[in-house]
Amino acid sequence: MDFLDFHHHKPNQNGIYNLDCNEAIPIGKFSVGLHPKDITENWKSDFEKIKNISISENCLAIGECGLDGLISVDEDLQKQIFQAHISWAEEITKPIIIHCVRRFSQILHYKNAKVPLVIHGFNKKENIAAELLEVGFHLSFGYAALENLSLQNIIKNIPIHRLFLETDDSDFEIIKLYEKVSGIKSISLENLKNQMWENLNHIIKNG
Ligand SMILES: [Zn+2]
Repeated sequence: MDFLDFHHHKPNQNGIYNLDCNEAIPIGKFSVGLHPKDITENWKSDFEKIKNISISENCLAIGECGLDGLISVDEDLQKQIFQAHISWAEEITKPIIIHCVRRFSQILHYKNAKVPLVIHGFNKKENIAAELLEVGFHLSFGYAALENLSLQNIIKNIPIHRLFLETDDSDFEIIKLYEKVSGIKSISLENLKNQMWENLNHIIKNG
């Protein structure tokens, strides 16, 4: 079995490919959602496509979707669309992959969603990680965790069943991150690999 890459943007690669709803459906596993930066006035028709595509068995999760405080898209609209993703995910019982930039206090308001919530590309401070973990979120770490000591400390302390690893849009081999995390958590590479698949199965079943 491969090392699970929880969230990436490379078509035809294993793991969970982040599909744009206007792209052809890939052969492998994927997630689909409307990234806040891709919100346009046509978002309703995009969202209809997302609904149709996401019923597919190969679609493992809804997203990435979420809230972004650094873009010019109206924030009430962002919230409305994020809520629409959550409601839909609850309806088809699939987990959500969340993109969040500078809006963590608001993301916390969605903690009671009836599906697992995974913050992807987590790259914030330990107190924010602690708050998210406390209320049940999962955290997925990417390239930044290879170098960033504060992220490595979060990884050291995170319950392993709440952890995911991803390449996102960075160009590096996911095994590098597995090697790093295997050292940080004092767990064998093989066990870490199995654990990440187990985590995925768990959130899909509880979707
Ligand atoms: Zn991404």
